[in-house]
Amino acid sequence: MGSMFRIAAIPADGVGAEVVEAGRAVLDAVTGPGIELSWTEFDWGCDYYARTGRMMAEDGLEQLAGFDAIYFGAVGWPTVPDHVSLWGLRLAVCQGFDQWANIRPVRFLPGVTSPLRKADDTELDWIVVRENSEGEYAGLGGRNLAARGRGSEVAVQSSLFTESGCERIMRFAFDLARGRERRRLTSVTKSNAQQYGMVLWDEVFERVAADYPDVETDSCLVDAMAARFVLRPEDLSVVVASNLHADILSDLGSALTGSLGTAASANLNPERRFPSMFEPVHGSAPDIAGQGVANPIGAIGSAALMLEHLGFPDEAARVNRAVETVTAAGVLPRDLGGTATTKDVTSAVIDALG
Ligand code: ATP
Ligand code: MG
Repeated sequence: MGSMFRIAAIPADGVGAEVVEAGRAVLDAVTGPGIELSWTEFDWGCDYYARTGRMMAEDGLEQLAGFDAIYFGAVGWPTVPDHVSLWGLRLAVCQGFDQWANIRPVRFLPGVTSPLRKADDTELDWIVVRENSEGEYAGLGGRNLAARGRGSEVAVQSSLFTESGCERIMRFAFDLARGRERRRLTSVTKSNAQQYGMVLWDEVFERVAADYPDVETDSCLVDAMAARFVLRPEDLSVVVASNLHADILSDLGSALTGSLGTAASANLNPERRFPSMFEPVHGSAPDIAGQGVANPIGAIGSAALMLEHLGFPDEAARVNRAVETVTAAGVLPRDLGGTATTKDVTSAVIDALG
């Protein structure tokens, strides 16, 4: 008996539509009678906003709630302020569906020149686990407008760290590390300078680590970690960090692999009470949108993460191997120094699925 999964596709803006089409083509090629995906596409995004004054339908979350997963493109267009488009759609889904764990693998692809690749071609791959619900992006604070007239306004931006929030993301990261060949979890912190939230973070990490004696651990200050990503990434396996720290580190990680266009991500509701969302890390890239040259590899990798989440790790691995075959053969999109179009890369990946 095969299984049928209902997937909501939200291509949204700019290159989002092009890379979602690519990812869907790969998914349709790798699935079959055993795993069937039934797609529903939503036309939400900045064009929808121009027509309706909203980034998504008013009952959007209710419409999405029954799906097994959400496959997302990219959000944002110069006609809509960034905080409106982001909060109106992507963050509304992340928060509405309590997608508190964000995973961003840092994968180096064969045949792709990266600033880090060494002469001996060391195999590098690690995963950044981002706390996606609190921390520095909790939205706490305010601006003291009254002080304006006196020449110096005051603004306060607070971070929120809860013991339960720290504990769940750390258990999630430990479980992930436990399933990998190198069982190591590195916690990112800034407890030398931030004496409340980050110290709580460190204490919870130490306590949870006791439940995972089979996973090696270490802690690293975020500034030192930025240097370590570049100079000594060989011993990284899973890295867990707060919302802000992981946001920055995962962009650094994707840039190190050669281009933002290759980075995949998953916004997970690990309890599976709500659908999780899979999306490339890159944005809508207005400068190249509509030209058919967007790199689809980040979106294809996100499709692989979705397959894994739905319970098909073998198919996910097939997709990732096919991408490696294609980059190794030199079929590279423009951002990776090649001339292949989005469609060229996509058909090459489908051919390489084997
Ligand atoms: P956001 O604010 O939505 O996170 P951004 O505006 O900072 O994103 P992007 O829209 O991702 O950034 O674009 C940044 C740069 O990376 C642009 O020059 C863009 O062309 C390039 N880029 C992004 N995604 C891709 C892709 N899939 N293929 C090729 N180039 C890309
Ligand atoms: Mg943008």
